[in-house]
Amino acid sequence: MQEDSSVQNENTPDTATEQPRRAGRRNRLIVLGAAALVALGLGGVAVATTGPDRPAPTAVSLDAQSRAEAASRADRSTRESSAPISPSASPTASPTATSAVPTPTKTATAKPKPKPKKTAKPTPAWVDPMPGASVTSCYGQRWGTLHAGIDLALPSGTPIHAAAAGTVVQAGDAADGYGNSVFVDHGNGYLTHYAHQSRIAVTVGQKVKAGQVIGYEGATGDATGPHLHFEVHQGMWNQIDPAPFMRTRGVDLGC
Ligand SMILES: [Zn+2]
Repeated sequence: MQEDSSVQNENTPDTATEQPRRAGRRNRLIVLGAAALVALGLGGVAVATTGPDRPAPTAVSLDAQSRAEAASRADRSTRESSAPISPSASPTASPTATSAVPTPTKTATAKPKPKPKKTAKPTPAWVDPMPGASVTSCYGQRWGTLHAGIDLALPSGTPIHAAAAGTVVQAGDAADGYGNSVFVDHGNGYLTHYAHQSRIAVTVGQKVKAGQVIGYEGATGDATGPHLHFEVHQGMWNQIDPAPFMRTRGVDLGC
């Protein structure tokens, strides 16, 4: 009896202490498995079936940890690309957040762009009649007479542009030394005059816009070489210095 009871007494505490230990391990594993389930939202079955033996927990927990880290990295990358959501946001909260955020940000980034302003101002009121040309002669006294315009040189055939919008009032060779020349009346008391053209591209009465090609550079009339002789008239045949006139209108002709 005593032996039996002692054996029973020895056995009972042993099994009693061992079972709680195993139960404790199992509980820890279940906690680990539950943690993995929360972190991943999948793979819970594999964790539950691994049982209470020793080698499994570390492998499972490492696997779960690496997968959780990978999942968090992936989650972070999607967050960064879509919208600025706080890192503590739960996966269940992010879908509603990502669907809600893009709409206001898109409209916010689209509104600041002043597209109508750009289209409303395609060309300035006054432009360079032959951009990139080198000045060979300015307005002023030259060889005892007034050189009444600015000479702009580029290879023959270079397009000549209307300095501003207006109406063509003369176009042709009047045998007055200017060769093929064009007058544009800008309707504000001023006219511009483009001389020595190789070819004229407009006709009298035609409305032109600022920058519109009105002809091509040449050496017709009294010209030693191909150039555009550009004049500004304050009223017909009252030539003024084009340089300050154009400069106050935002065009520097280099004189
Ligand atoms: Zn000239």
